[in-house]
Amino acid sequence: MKKYNFNAGPSILPREVIENTAKQILDFNGSGLSLMEISHRAKDFQPVVDEAVALIKELLQIPEGYAVIFLGGGASLQFHMVPNNFFVKKAAYLNTGTWAKKALKEAKFFGEVVEVASSADKNYSYLPKGWSVPEDCDYFHITSNNTIYGTEIRKDLDVKMPLIADMSSDIFSRPIDVAKYACIYGGAQKNLAMAGVTFVIVKEDMLGKTGREIPTMLDYRTHIEKGSMFNTPPVVPIYSALETLRWIKKNGGVEAMDKLAHERADLLYAEIDRNKLFKGTVAEEDRSLMNICFIMNDEYKDLEKPFFEFATERGMVGIKGHRSVGGFRASCYNAMSVDGVKELIACMKEFEDKH
Ligand SMILES: *Cc1c(COP(=O)(O)O)cnc(C)c1O
Repeated sequence: MKKYNFNAGPSILPREVIENTAKQILDFNGSGLSLMEISHRAKDFQPVVDEAVALIKELLQIPEGYAVIFLGGGASLQFHMVPNNFFVKKAAYLNTGTWAKKALKEAKFFGEVVEVASSADKNYSYLPKGWSVPEDCDYFHITSNNTIYGTEIRKDLDVKMPLIADMSSDIFSRPIDVAKYACIYGGAQKNLAMAGVTFVIVKEDMLGKTGREIPTMLDYRTHIEKGSMFNTPPVVPIYSALETLRWIKKNGGVEAMDKLAHERADLLYAEIDRNKLFKGTVAEEDRSLMNICFIMNDEYKDLEKPFFEFATERGMVGIKGHRSVGGFRASCYNAMSVDGVKELIACMKEFEDKH
């Protein structure tokens, strides 16, 4: 039976990305060695990093003055690296969920942190509105897509201070005005690659201004200077990212990804709203196109487990909601086809007909 992978992360990747990476794991560029056993300093590997960086710059139309680096440690390490590199006296954070809160916690190691607004009062089911950021903050941090709760800031905000965004789960799903950001980062395992690599896009002239010593490994400048080769980078995950970037380019770039994201999400939210069994968990105007959360309507609560089993039997994988929301979450990253979403909708309809 065909499986439809709705996992939130690690998550679906295009089939050809997996196949091409597998081929290179068996025999890297015809060298007779595996991608897993070559040196990151091998002359064949440098072009992999160079092409991946060039494609990121091309796909996102990154202006001059920004560096793109690959690191280990996940987005979670970035929660700490960001303040290490940007915090001087005071920073501002928008609290829109678990990941935002974790980022905020790390910034507190460095001094005063302003929680500009929070949607914790309603279990992060909406994006806070009407807030303003104190102008004396060094930077303002947002989580563009809240993977767990299914809200998304799907636009580039205008603020008066450097903007920094965790884009772990919506990077490459739309065009971004990178010039508005001082830093964009994310774990690759949602929309870009297999787990193990983190991407960071950083405006170089913003660095070196904290007046503090920064531990070598935590200083972006270390990794920029060495082209992501200060220490051994995650070779295979970077290769898989390269394959995904090639796939995005071949399939029309981030504009095409954006169009597909809207198409998938429009279909699925329409069914959630139409189907008598289900309801969405998020304020309509804040709905994520990437992670689509829904629960059973109150009078059908008992059908949660049966629907999960019904859908699983039909090849739907990973639709169980995160424990902090419950119900269901269908993650619809770039590699999820519109047909995959239609299959899920067919399950929802069929299940509705039975009840
Ligand atoms: C998954 C996720 C993280 C955590 O990423 P790790 O790479 O596991 O550290 C952080 N932020 C967001 C928005 C995420 O979706």
